[in-house]
Amino acid sequence: MRATQFFLNTLKEAPADAEIVSHQLMMRAGMIKRLAGGVYTYMPIGLRSIRKVENIIREEMNRAGAIELLMPAVQPAELWQESGRWEKYGPELLRLKDRHDRDFVIGPTHEEVITDVVRKEVKSYRQLPLNLYQIQSKFRDEIRPRFGVMRGREFVMKDAYSFDRDQASALKTYDVMYGAYQRIFTRLGLNFRAVAADTGSIGGNRSHEFHVIADTGEDAIAYCPSSDYAANVELAEAICSEQRPAATVPMAAVHTPGNSTCEAVAKQLDLALSRTVKSVVFANETVVDKKKAVQIILALVRGDHEVNDIKLGKLPGVQELRLATEAEIVEAFGTKPGYLGPVGVQNVRVVADRSVAAMADFVCGANEADHHLYGVNWGRDLPEPEVADIRNVVEGDASPDGQGVLAMCRGIEVGHVFYLGKKYSEALKATFLDVDGKPAVMEMGCYGIGVTRILGAAIEQNFDDRGIIWPLSIAPFEVVLCPIGYKKSEQVKLEADTLYDALKAAGVDVMLDDRDERPGVMFADWELIGVPLRVTLGDRGLQNGLVEFQSRDGKIEKRDVAVADILGVVQ
Ligand code: ATP
Ligand code: MG
Ligand code: MG
Ligand code: MG
Repeated sequence: MRATQFFLNTLKEAPADAEIVSHQLMMRAGMIKRLAGGVYTYMPIGLRSIRKVENIIREEMNRAGAIELLMPAVQPAELWQESGRWEKYGPELLRLKDRHDRDFVIGPTHEEVITDVVRKEVKSYRQLPLNLYQIQSKFRDEIRPRFGVMRGREFVMKDAYSFDRDQASALKTYDVMYGAYQRIFTRLGLNFRAVAADTGSIGGNRSHEFHVIADTGEDAIAYCPSSDYAANVELAEAICSEQRPAATVPMAAVHTPGNSTCEAVAKQLDLALSRTVKSVVFANETVVDKKKAVQIILALVRGDHEVNDIKLGKLPGVQELRLATEAEIVEAFGTKPGYLGPVGVQNVRVVADRSVAAMADFVCGANEADHHLYGVNWGRDLPEPEVADIRNVVEGDASPDGQGVLAMCRGIEVGHVFYLGKKYSEALKATFLDVDGKPAVMEMGCYGIGVTRILGAAIEQNFDDRGIIWPLSIAPFEVVLCPIGYKKSEQVKLEADTLYDALKAAGVDVMLDDRDERPGVMFADWELIGVPLRVTLGDRGLQNGLVEFQSRDGKIEKRDVAVADILGVVQ
């Protein structure tokens, strides 16, 4: 590729809403352009990396025996009603109507559609096992899209779905996928970790998330440095809370760690406030945008997002909405209300009706590092809300495998493998005739990878003050040629063109910067974009047949190389 025939649009400054480094750098490098909240155009330079990620995934999925297909983004509501998720999925599911007033969704995931395909096509055990995958755009109406492609609303996912005759065969497929994921994330050049994940209501005990280790990750991982044990915190809690009696607090409070915003708090309330709530109590008067927070929370309670009026009386069951007193906070958390993020609602307290059925886990507590309470719950028969205190449970606690103590780190979920059993096949009646001629229900698994999220995750692990440092396998270009005086020196132009042709012919993904920019401008652009290898051609060196060669990651320092040897060093 020649720069003059490409579309480069680097920026000096990142937009103000870009909070984390990967978002900032992707915007500045011109990889993505924002169209709406959580909705991005993948610009040519960004798309090149996306295609490389996709190709690695594709190769490994094919190698593991999966077969590619492509399903529609728009799905009829009937399928979702059949699986029961039309009611259960909640506001992340984008619903729409066609001109005939029929309901549709924009697919956040494709279990329903694939199960429909397979139930219609697969009749006999001879057609199983079957593992089908696609690389496709998903839409999830995330309550708080942020971090650029990391938590988008529209994003690209690889999703695979397996169908097996019986559980033993399904678990074998699961293991094959697990192995494929190990290879994929290794080839992507990421520092990652597979962690056990909660299987939630689906049951079964096979679910692993693949996390890229990064401080900006939204998930917490408990792991044992002296063994292989690693779990996402939800699961670690589930295991550990069995071992310890839960503390009790009179009211539950909701809090999200870090710079909580109204939306972040509301996200936590989302799951819990769907039933009867007696009171919602804010713990701190310095809430920056209290009114908005209340609106959001009430909208969530009502299950809609359009908030125009916030009359408390309209909310069934809620009797109270007020700020908590300091004494109440001290009583509940054992600490005073602490640090407040730049925008935020802290320590929102919710008093729920005792009759409320078992609810979601909360992360609660004082707004101070390591002072959070995790796993707060209301139980059906409990006299008071239950709290499991993870401060004592996870960090430094005995690892459930008995091999040492647990440590915590943060991670970005880039992949997820999940044994589903018969959850969808039963609901949608995906059956086949087994060897004995009797009908049986298929065993399923699903396997997702966040293709576009991977770009952000890779950058979180590989950057410096000048920009991105791509792993070679997913860099938009592998090598950039920077001729100094391309339009002024015939020798420079000739050598640059010749080298460019030779590299291309050898299958190297090379960019020739033929813009005739000043060296400083060229270097700044390609360092920002993060091309792993750079060759600089200038008149002086070329007189001796030499060019300058260096790697973006600093492992190969700037050195002179004979033009004739370049092909050898970049391959
Ligand atoms: P998260 O916990 O981050 O919300 P998830 O568990 O809801 O993710 P899955 O349903 O497991 O996501 O989907 C498979 C993969 O799709 C995830 O592992 C993640 O890499 C990616 N993914 C999910 N949601 C998003 C999003 N909003 N933006 C970008 N990628 C996403
Ligand atoms: Mg999610
Ligand atoms: Mg998750
Ligand atoms: Mg997941």
